[in-house]
Amino acid sequence: MTAITLIQGDITQQSVDAVVNAANSSLLGGGGVDGAIHRKGGPAILDECRDLRASKYGKGLPTGQAVATTAGNLDARWVIHTVGPRFLTGEDRSELLASCYRESLRVADELGARTVAFPAVSAGIYGWPMEDAARVAVETVRATSTAVEEVRFVLFDEQAYETFARQL
Ligand code: ADP
Repeated sequence: MTAITLIQGDITQQSVDAVVNAANSSLLGGGGVDGAIHRKGGPAILDECRDLRASKYGKGLPTGQAVATTAGNLDARWVIHTVGPRFLTGEDRSELLASCYRESLRVADELGARTVAFPAVSAGIYGWPMEDAARVAVETVRATSTAVEEVRFVLFDEQAYETFARQL
């Protein structure tokens, strides 16, 4: 049974086994959560990301997939990088967003992570409306069978927190 918890705060400060990064497909850093994770986690994470680009993901990590690195100076043991879809009006890409949560939890299971912190994937720079991002996040985690004991949604501001709380 997976407990779903909510907290308003900074994902880089969570003491969990794995934090999920709302990465972009280059895996080479960006703004938002991605920038914060690389700033606090230090260069070890980026080195591993570069190795992943050179080996398995020459064209980048596809949208909806997830891959792990260690977590550098973060409290967590691993960072699970996933690439959310950009929000597009007139095209339902929610299955790709759901895939981010499912694939991240699958990677967490492979690692043996018991506690995993997620940001609101796609709900920042990628433009997804928070209400719908929260719906997909909560529904998908609830529907996914995993050995992860706690999924913690870490919301940066009060409005995002309230939105997730309503969905839960
Ligand atoms: P994306 O590119 O997938 O939209 P972003 O990182 O731009 O990802 O934003 C995803 C969500 O994470 C947004 O709601 C944003 O406000 C929030 N966010 C940004 N920085 C942090 C942080 N340090 N901890 C938790 N959430 C954050």
